[in-house]
Amino acid sequence: MLTDYHTHTERGPYTVAWLEQFLEQAHSRGIQEYGVSEHGYRFVQTAHLLDNPWTRERRTQDLDEYHAMVTKARAAGHHVKFGLELDYIPGKERELEAFIQSYPFDYVIGSVHWLGDFGFDLLEMKEQWVARDIKSTYDEYFGILTQMVESRLFDFVGHADVIKVFGHEPQDQEFLQQWYERLATTFARHDVVVEVSTAGLRKPVGKMYPAPQFLKACHLARVPIVINSDAHRPEDVGADYPEAIAFAKDAGYSTLTVFESRQRSQHPIG
Ligand SMILES: [Zn+2]
Ligand SMILES: [Zn+2]
Repeated sequence: MLTDYHTHTERGPYTVAWLEQFLEQAHSRGIQEYGVSEHGYRFVQTAHLLDNPWTRERRTQDLDEYHAMVTKARAAGHHVKFGLELDYIPGKERELEAFIQSYPFDYVIGSVHWLGDFGFDLLEMKEQWVARDIKSTYDEYFGILTQMVESRLFDFVGHADVIKVFGHEPQDQEFLQQWYERLATTFARHDVVVEVSTAGLRKPVGKMYPAPQFLKACHLARVPIVINSDAHRPEDVGADYPEAIAFAKDAGYSTLTVFESRQRSQHPIG
C-alpha cells in the first residue's frame, strides 16, 4: 500500500479534469490511496480561524466548490480522499473543532506555519530569519506543535520539522534529540499520526521531514506514519517515494496509515 494524502490542487481550478492529472500521476507511481488537502486559509469559510495580512489577501476560494470537485470525481468513478491542511493557531481550538466537524473530511492535517505573524516557511518573509535566534525559534515552533497535538483536533502532523525549511538548523544535536523524544512521546500520548514528507527534498534544506532521529524516536514511541509528497503540482505527486519508503523502513516502520472518514487502519508499506 502507498498513500499520498498531502497534495494541493490550488494552482488550478476545482475541476475533475484538473484533479485527474494528479490522480494519473498517483496511479503511475503505484499510489492506491490519493487524497487532496488544500490549505484551509484559502477559503472564505475559515476567516475566523486565521486572519493576518498575508492570509487575508489569499482568502478567495469557496470550500464548497473544493468539496464538490471531490464529490464529482467520486461520481466519475475515482477513488479520492477528501482532506484539508489546517493551520493550528493556539486559542482557536473551539472554533477549529466546530469547523472540522462541519465537513465530511477523511482526514485533517494539523500544520504549524505561523509563529505569530511570522510565516517562517514563506519566501517573502525569509529575511526575518536574520534577526532570529535559531534555538529559541525552534523552541517556539515545537512548543506550538506540542499544543497542536495536545488539542487532539487533527489526524496527522504535517511536516513535523518544517521549521528547518530554509536550512536554519541548530548545531546542538542534544537540543534537537531532546525535542524529538519529547515530541514523539506527546504524539503517542495523544494518538496522532506523523507524516513522512518528501517536500523538504524540494526545499532549500534538501532533506526529508522529519529528521531521521526524529522519525526513529516516533517509531520507538509507536507513533504510526503516513507517507506524503505535499505536491503543489501533478508531477510532484509521489515524488521521491523510493527514498521515502527506504527512509521509513530504516527508522523501523513496516506499515503506514490509511484514512477513511477520519478512521484509520494500518497496511504494509509498498
Ligand atoms: Zn504545510
Ligand atoms: Zn501542504
